[in-house]
Amino acid sequence: MTSEELPRPALELVERSNRLGADRRNTNYGGGNTSAKGKATDPVTAEEVELMWVKGSGGDLGTLIPSGIAALRLDRVRALQDVYRGPEHEDEMHQMLDHCLFGIDNAAPSIDTSMHGLLDCTHVDHLHPDSVIALAASADGERLTRECYGDEMLWIEWRRPGFELATRMEALRVENPDAKGVIMGGHGLTTWGATSDECERRSLEAIARATEFIEQTGKAEPLGPMRRGFEPLPPDERAQRAATLAPVLRGLASTDSPVIGRWFDDDVVVDFIGREAAPRVVPLGTSCPDHLIRTKVRPLMLDLPTTARHEDQVARLQELHDEYRDEYRQYYERYADDDSPPMRGSDPAIFLVPGVGMFSFGADSQTARVAGEFYINAINVIRGAEAVSTYEPVSEAEKFRVEYWMLEELKLRRRPKPKPLTGKVSFITGAGSGIGRAIAVRLAKEGSVVVVGDLHLDTARETAEIIAGTGPNASDRAIAVAVDVSDEAQIGNALKDAVRQFGGVDIVVNNAGLSLSKSLADTSVADWDLQHNVMARGSFLVTKAAAEMLRAQGTGGEIVYVVSKNAIAAGPNNVAYSSAKASQAHQVRLLAAELGEHGIRVNGVNPDGVVQGSGIFAGGWGAERAKVYGVPEEKLGEYYAGRTLLKQEVLPEHVAEAVTALVNGSLNHTTGLLIPVDSGVASAFLR
Ligand SMILES: [Zn+2]
Repeated sequence: MTSEELPRPALELVERSNRLGADRRNTNYGGGNTSAKGKATDPVTAEEVELMWVKGSGGDLGTLIPSGIAALRLDRVRALQDVYRGPEHEDEMHQMLDHCLFGIDNAAPSIDTSMHGLLDCTHVDHLHPDSVIALAASADGERLTRECYGDEMLWIEWRRPGFELATRMEALRVENPDAKGVIMGGHGLTTWGATSDECERRSLEAIARATEFIEQTGKAEPLGPMRRGFEPLPPDERAQRAATLAPVLRGLASTDSPVIGRWFDDDVVVDFIGREAAPRVVPLGTSCPDHLIRTKVRPLMLDLPTTARHEDQVARLQELHDEYRDEYRQYYERYADDDSPPMRGSDPAIFLVPGVGMFSFGADSQTARVAGEFYINAINVIRGAEAVSTYEPVSEAEKFRVEYWMLEELKLRRRPKPKPLTGKVSFITGAGSGIGRAIAVRLAKEGSVVVVGDLHLDTARETAEIIAGTGPNASDRAIAVAVDVSDEAQIGNALKDAVRQFGGVDIVVNNAGLSLSKSLADTSVADWDLQHNVMARGSFLVTKAAAEMLRAQGTGGEIVYVVSKNAIAAGPNNVAYSSAKASQAHQVRLLAAELGEHGIRVNGVNPDGVVQGSGIFAGGWGAERAKVYGVPEEKLGEYYAGRTLLKQEVLPEHVAEAVTALVNGSLNHTTGLLIPVDSGVASAFLR
């Protein structure tokens, strides 16, 4: 549906949803849903029909567009009550909703659709505001609801979303015709109104009232005093420690399947971890179904003070991780029955480290970020609940029912198959132009998140933008870092940026290079040093730092050198460049021999004659080489193609393709290899 075709109530629905979703105090990302009911003309019969428009499954309110809406025939949704066989069979009702859809191009109806449909109110909002969930997840939520709202808002005990909850909620509303909405135990808020404005106003008032209630009646320090030794560290120190810990944590979190990470050190997070109540409330996990699906049954919290040595922290984290996995298995076995989907990974999604912050993990970068954002929602909920009462999330049995709900399982199975490099982090040097840029773009296309390194931050940013655009969450897919690869400190910082953003690194591409085409007589010591510093020394330094990180992560890794035909074949006026390239070529073999025992593979590519988009050629080398060969500079690509066996010009994309083959699992049993990408140059055949 486009907005021109949209009837007025549906248009109002989109606008209201966007306003509500724009403020994260109203609902979490992708959380909550809204609906409107009204009349439209059936194009088949030309008759007027009553419809309900409701936000579809998985979309976000703040960015809802008409194509994210499902339109359903209201008479048919209501008729489902006649065929409902009771709570034991409520899941089958969800499939029945597909029989109620109206028109074409509908979004998939979400699990809350029946609640919107059965409530006999024109406009309905269902939201997950932190302040309201705080009341809803309190030990005495019902009493607090009455205290906070009087008769205006009703209370309904926790029940998993679905047809039974919808039936009970409508019955409650009919008994209390003056109520404006309902606080849903352990879960969130639902409000209704005769007009879109009334519904929106009631939602905002209910949220504001809960916030005020907690502020005015709650305890000043709901989570108790700060524990000694668990205080937030200064921001610089947090960042340093996060960079050292992240690969270790990512390694643990990847035990069952590879994950991407994200580090958060928001004040609310480091403060929460340090408080006296943390060891009591963290194991309780989260409450709202949205939160707990993303953050898992509970986080793993390190129980050592910030003064503990790094090695001791790592050892303790390993112990706690083993315990976590055992407990998770027991949790699964306690509640699973014959109909339950098989156990998914038993690694935590959220790690909490005193003083340093939170590390969240997920199958891709966006999932990791959202898990962290949801745990921040949960922290607000816990703090609010503890301010006015005692935090009491839904029971563990119910958590299991939500986590291993068949409908959730089906939603997971509908997800597109992951790409070959989904869950991988690539770090590429010299990626602001030419071959490096082509490699960055190609690996991103294969599903990898990319850290674009370049001496020039502006060109690195251009590459990141080509990959991820400029949207608010572009950094989920690619970030740009400035790095002079001849400078050990800059390499360390760039890798730390990578690790804080994505949790670690898996694929490292040594691509940075430069070339000055000069005869022996004209090559100065400075020329020699510059080229060796960037290529021979630079790739050594990058590999050294990256290998240390890969070993801490313990999940193997890929190191790729972009070398050159010139590492093998000799030509005039090239002594500094080609000998630096020869050093890189031998580093591939030396380091393949050394790092194999850690599962780290080291390979390279030997391109030749790549003129297009090349920073090296643009920097004067092209003109020099053209002069050496006696051809015009613009014909250099053609000239190189002409002297190859295949007579084809080599483009940056061809080199990127070879790098992809080395790292995408196709050549998993290969290390120490150099692949020529030169259209066939017999003098550079390896032997
Ligand atoms: Zn909900």
